[in-house]
Amino acid sequence: MKKIVVITGASRGIGAATARLAAARGYAVCVNYLKNHAAARAVVAEIEAAGGQAIAVAADVAEEAGVARLFDAVDRQLGTLSALVNNAGILETQMRVDEMDAARLQRIFAANVSSCFLCAREAVRRMSTKHGGSGGAIVNVSSAASRLGSAGEYVDYAASKGAVDTLTIGLAREVATEGIRVNAVRPGFIYTDIHASGGEPGRVDRVKEFVPMKRGGRPEEVASAILWLLSDEASYATGTFIDLAGGR
Ligand code: NAP
Repeated sequence: MKKIVVITGASRGIGAATARLAAARGYAVCVNYLKNHAAARAVVAEIEAAGGQAIAVAADVAEEAGVARLFDAVDRQLGTLSALVNNAGILETQMRVDEMDAARLQRIFAANVSSCFLCAREAVRRMSTKHGGSGGAIVNVSSAASRLGSAGEYVDYAASKGAVDTLTIGLAREVATEGIRVNAVRPGFIYTDIHASGGEPGRVDRVKEFVPMKRGGRPEEVASAILWLLSDEASYATGTFIDLAGGR
């Protein structure tokens, strides 16, 4: 039977690369996104042109209603879920902690943490053997920032990824006997549009000198690790992390 994966935030960047690779590996893919319809449709078209199966679903995963709509669409249009990649995430303009207001913190934690909890909840309800499901895998997209703290740039973002790491460990242990593995990747500086949201589109090229490998990463290099963690080749890996940060 065809495996079905939901990838949040898959209209561009790491999510889009993961969607393309998942489709190439035989998954039917749900390309979730927030507002960029054209980009999401282009990812689906590319997958279909290569002979794969994909749907695009616009839904804000920072909100419970959006998450419900996303998983309803998957149930109706694709079938029984087998995998989730919690990839959607945001960062905001670089600033110090002593400049941050409560509204910003709420946006960051809703988009980066609540989204992962809510999507994981829906996936576990569908995949857990405890609920009559046949198992599956979850990969959370955390960040090297959870280890490094992002001082002077976005400590809020780094802390939100720390919460994603803890979710990964806790949920992995909670569902370990229910056929579900839960792991995470922690990318370093990857060439995507997220850095423009922080006010510095050229950030990766500025900071790559701090990376032992002296280069930024490509979204495809993160996607490969995600697909390995989702696959049966990672059958004894749960509650663990792959750091993809060029040695940082
Ligand atoms: P990106 O290029 O900015 O893409 C973000 C994606 O998430 C877009 O598809 C966007 O949809 C979607 N999105 C944002 N908020 C959403 C929401 N509330 N609901 C649904 N979709 C939402 O990001 P990226 O760099 O590929 O990052 C992907 C993940 O990797 C994030 O969790 C990020 O924190 C993590 N990461 C990135 C790096 C890096 O250097 N790039 C490093 C470490 C970790 P629209 O296009 O429709 O807005």
